[in-house]
Amino acid sequence: MAQVIAIGEFSGELNGRDGHILYREAAKEIPIYWELSIHEELDGSRSYGVSVTCDFQYWARPKAEPISEKHQLEILAALREWLHAQGKRSSVDLPKDSSEDSGNCLYKDCHRRQIKGVYYCRHHFDLSCLMNIR
Ligand SMILES: [Zn+2]
Repeated sequence: MAQVIAIGEFSGELNGRDGHILYREAAKEIPIYWELSIHEELDGSRSYGVSVTCDFQYWARPKAEPISEKHQLEILAALREWLHAQGKRSSVDLPKDSSEDSGNCLYKDCHRRQIKGVYYCRHHFDLSCLMNIR
């Protein structure tokens, strides 16, 4: 189990087609855009989830105050947990099987093992969630 640090609070409704989740940490806040996503299952059926835009580089309040990469990753981990607690699949979920494969992470100069079925190690998988590559 990943260890999640309770650093702040999320609020917002996940009803409808899209909206914003608000993340607050004391007086700081940042809105997180989400939209409905459809997942194709291996058996051809469909399920619904949310696609979140993890643009955590700057706080919205205080305006334009930068957020460190380490802290962005903490917010991502907390958001993943929160979405899970809401019963939602999301675009930042870890793969079902997050065990490591024999291959190396494809990220330049990274020597960690890649996650099964993913080309990146866990660290770079998380970074890719932040940069919206997926
Ligand atoms: Zn890596």
